[in-house]
Amino acid sequence: MNRRDILKKLSFLPLVPAAIGEGKDSAPAAPVIRDLFAELGVTRVINANVTMTFLSGSLMLPEVLEAINSTSHDFADMFDLQDRVGAKIAEMLTAEAAMVTSGAASAILLGTAASITGADKEKIRQLPNLPGPRPEVIMQKSHRYHFDQAVTTTGAKIVEVEGPEEMEKAFSAQTVMALFFNAAERHSVTQEEFLTIARRHKIPAFLDAAADVPPVENLFKFQKMGFDLVTFSGGKMLRGPQSAGLLFGRKDLIEAAKLNHSPHEAPIGRPMKVNKEEMFGMYAALKAYLEKDHQKEWDGWLETAKHIAARLASVPTLKTEVLVDPGPANAFPGLVLDWDPQRVKITPQEVLKALKTGSPSIVAGSYKDKLRIGVVLLRPDQVDIVAQRVKQILEQAV
Ligand SMILES: *Cc1c(COP(=O)(O)O)cnc(C)c1O
Repeated sequence: MNRRDILKKLSFLPLVPAAIGEGKDSAPAAPVIRDLFAELGVTRVINANVTMTFLSGSLMLPEVLEAINSTSHDFADMFDLQDRVGAKIAEMLTAEAAMVTSGAASAILLGTAASITGADKEKIRQLPNLPGPRPEVIMQKSHRYHFDQAVTTTGAKIVEVEGPEEMEKAFSAQTVMALFFNAAERHSVTQEEFLTIARRHKIPAFLDAAADVPPVENLFKFQKMGFDLVTFSGGKMLRGPQSAGLLFGRKDLIEAAKLNHSPHEAPIGRPMKVNKEEMFGMYAALKAYLEKDHQKEWDGWLETAKHIAARLASVPTLKTEVLVDPGPANAFPGLVLDWDPQRVKITPQEVLKALKTGSPSIVAGSYKDKLRIGVVLLRPDQVDIVAQRVKQILEQAV
């Protein structure tokens, strides 16, 4: 076995106690596997919720880990790799062009930068300190969110609009882009209106769909509608590296985004560089995602939710409901729990806390004011552990 094979094997081995094989002199020594969680005193967490950055996002698919392990032992020309990975991803998404970014937030920043500078080397060099009036990006008031800082970091300012008429009037000589937050709670301008207006003013329309798979169709839908740039997070349900994302769309804009990024040592994008591992990893994640049997995966999630519900059936007054989030973000099933607080004297918040601080540590979620057990990120071996802990906590409160 060469080093590459060993590393490959190691990454799939479950953690075994170092003592395995002890006392059997003839047995080959068990490989010493460092438990880095233990070494650093970090608690392993079971994610019975949705992908969240503070919980390290998603778990990478085995195909992604293999892509990373099998490519980590050689150097690559990053210009060449970026171009080739981008071309392949574009082909898979039937987009004009694509690139791997360090996440969807980085994609928003690079897309904005591209819309400001185009291929102009001097502007790229000066960003975010361009002389003259600040570039403007149009957004709906109801779309303002945490991630639009990625727009203003380029030096651009956001012009807020409410409704198509205001949007129509908001364009100026400084307007460089219009950003649509797909999972916003309210749209005062529909996607179609947004595209029509942006096109009339010849301004690129960018759609942030970071958490909007499943369904897999969403990877194709928005560029077909006419959005010039689209982003998805790599580290959400695509299950690629958490520090990767996809940006795809119009070729000239993707080329400009690349010029604003690493390895081009561009000032605005250089601090969010993407290395070889994330590029190969993101490619492998997308390929695996597109090839996966989505119906089977969905049925598996429903089964897990029903299985947990069955395990909880004996808890007095407990009602369970398998609820599919309508999306567009996190549009997948979870199990919502409701009980009579007169009989089971604990609040959903207290259950969440008990799960989190218990052993093993479990992070569950909530839906409205109810407890929600997420199932899409549970490993098979964690399903009964979660069911058992929830049952125990609720029954102790009877
Ligand atoms: C998660 C998320 C982002 C940020 O994505 P990263 O890949 O973590 O950078 C941006 N926009 C929306 C709507 C998101 O849900």
